[in-house]
Amino acid sequence: MPNPKRKHSPARRDSRRAANWKLETKTLSSCPQCGAMRLPHRVCASCGAYNGKIEVVRKEKKTDEQNPK
Ligand SMILES: [Zn+2]
Repeated sequence: MPNPKRKHSPARRDSRRAANWKLETKTLSSCPQCGAMRLPHRVCASCGAYNGKIEVVRKEKKTDEQNPK
Protein backbone atom coordinates (compact mmCIF):
# COMPACT_ATOMS: atom_id res chain seq x y z
CA MET A 1 0.00 0.00 0.00
CA PRO A 2 1.34 3.46 -0.88
CA ASN A 3 1.72 5.66 2.11
CA PRO A 4 2.97 9.20 2.74
CA LYS A 5 6.70 9.13 3.26
CA ARG A 6 6.73 11.82 5.94
CA LYS A 7 4.38 13.06 8.60
CA HIS A 8 3.03 16.52 7.75
CA SER A 9 4.29 19.29 9.98
CA PRO A 10 1.92 20.98 12.46
CA ALA A 11 2.14 24.18 10.44
CA ARG A 12 1.05 22.37 7.29
CA ARG A 13 -1.80 20.65 9.13
CA ASP A 14 -2.95 23.92 10.76
CA SER A 15 -2.79 25.92 7.53
CA ARG A 16 -4.93 23.29 5.81
CA ARG A 17 -7.53 23.49 8.57
CA ALA A 18 -7.42 27.29 8.65
CA ALA A 19 -8.38 27.50 4.99
CA ASN A 20 -11.61 25.52 5.41
CA TRP A 21 -13.77 27.49 7.79
CA LYS A 22 -15.93 30.57 7.54
CA LEU A 23 -17.86 32.82 9.86
CA GLU A 24 -21.54 32.01 10.00
CA THR A 25 -24.24 34.50 10.83
CA LYS A 26 -26.26 33.40 13.83
CA THR A 27 -29.91 32.73 13.19
CA LEU A 28 -31.94 35.54 14.72
CA SER A 29 -35.62 35.86 15.43
CA SER A 30 -37.50 38.88 16.72
CA CYS A 31 -38.83 38.99 20.27
CA PRO A 32 -42.65 38.92 20.34
CA GLN A 33 -42.64 41.15 23.42
CA CYS A 34 -40.36 44.02 22.44
CA GLY A 35 -39.46 43.21 18.82
CA ALA A 36 -35.70 43.19 19.40
CA MET A 37 -33.63 40.59 17.55
CA ARG A 38 -32.67 37.66 19.76
CA LEU A 39 -31.36 34.12 19.40
CA PRO A 40 -34.13 31.51 19.11
CA HIS A 41 -34.78 29.43 22.26
CA ARG A 42 -33.06 32.09 24.37
CA VAL A 43 -34.35 34.64 26.85
CA CYS A 44 -34.61 38.06 25.25
CA ALA A 45 -31.64 40.20 26.28
CA SER A 46 -33.50 43.50 26.11
CA CYS A 47 -36.77 42.69 27.94
CA GLY A 48 -36.05 39.30 29.59
CA ALA A 49 -39.16 37.59 28.17
CA TYR A 50 -39.29 33.93 27.20
CA ASN A 51 -42.13 31.82 25.76
CA GLY A 52 -44.75 34.49 26.34
CA LYS A 53 -43.76 35.05 29.96
CA ILE A 54 -42.59 38.55 30.76
CA GLU A 55 -39.34 39.04 32.66
CA VAL A 56 -38.33 35.42 33.25
CA VAL A 57 -34.91 36.82 34.00
CA ARG A 58 -34.91 40.06 35.93
CA LYS A 59 -32.73 42.71 34.37
CA GLU A 60 -30.26 43.89 36.98
CA LYS A 61 -30.52 47.49 38.02
CA LYS A 62 -29.10 49.23 41.06
CA THR A 63 -32.48 50.82 41.84
CA ASP A 64 -34.17 47.39 41.97
CA GLU A 65 -31.97 46.22 44.82
CA GLN A 66 -32.93 49.14 47.00
CA ASN A 67 -36.60 49.39 46.04
CA PRO A 68 -38.07 46.06 44.87
CA LYS A 69 -41.10 46.90 42.68
ZN1 LIG B 1 -37.79 41.24 24.19
